[in-house]
Amino acid sequence: MKWPYTPLPKTDIHTHSEFSKCSVNTTVCGNITMAVLKGLEAIAITDHTQHVLKVGFEKYIEKILRLRESNSTGLKVLTGLEVDIKLDGEPDVSRRMLRKLDVVIGALHNLPYGKSFVESYRNVILKALRSNWIDVLAHPTYVDEQNINLPIELIYEICEEARENSVVVELNSNHKCPSDEFIKICVDTGVTLTPVSDSHILGNIGAYDWQLQTLKRLNVLNDVKWLTVDLLLKKRRKGDF
Ligand SMILES: [Zn+2]
Ligand SMILES: [Zn+2]
Repeated sequence: MKWPYTPLPKTDIHTHSEFSKCSVNTTVCGNITMAVLKGLEAIAITDHTQHVLKVGFEKYIEKILRLRESNSTGLKVLTGLEVDIKLDGEPDVSRRMLRKLDVVIGALHNLPYGKSFVESYRNVILKALRSNWIDVLAHPTYVDEQNINLPIELIYEICEEARENSVVVELNSNHKCPSDEFIKICVDTGVTLTPVSDSHILGNIGAYDWQLQTLKRLNVLNDVKWLTVDLLLKKRRKGDF
């Protein structure tokens, strides 16, 4: 299929499979087939750590690797996880486990109640970005199941840390995230971006209408620094991430 989202890269490195409880109809096998149909060059399976651990990490990796090997289309299939960022900025699984993966997505899904939201958010995210375990920061303005507004100075601080630490920020069509302001500052400050579907529904894999329209509307479509999968894999092999 002709790629309808040029100049966006033909990659989707945040998708869920049957190993995530919240998956509707996605599976490792189905995601790979859909990625080929959509004209993608690379897809990552990045299920939630706590869901994967219930079934077994080894079983998860084995399944992805088995289907990667039996796929002869040239599509790159990456192993990954969507890892929860703990309140101390650390991953919710061991770093040893993360070193076995092709891509690590770091996500802050919840913050403790009762504290100043912005202050807690700032502490956790900045610590995590400096902690050298995250390749891609997931849906940065979607926390506690809602889209949030962040002060502009904080967005600049986050972008600065992301760029300094080679952390990529995702453009996530599942949550329509980050916010316009966040995207504009990422582009202005040279943060590397990657489009993702964060798909729990098969048909959404590699569907980037939201990303394309948003970047056009913000008038930054041709100014984005995109992540390439070759760069991601090279950096991981060197241990830069
Ligand atoms: Zn998430
Ligand atoms: Zn996700």
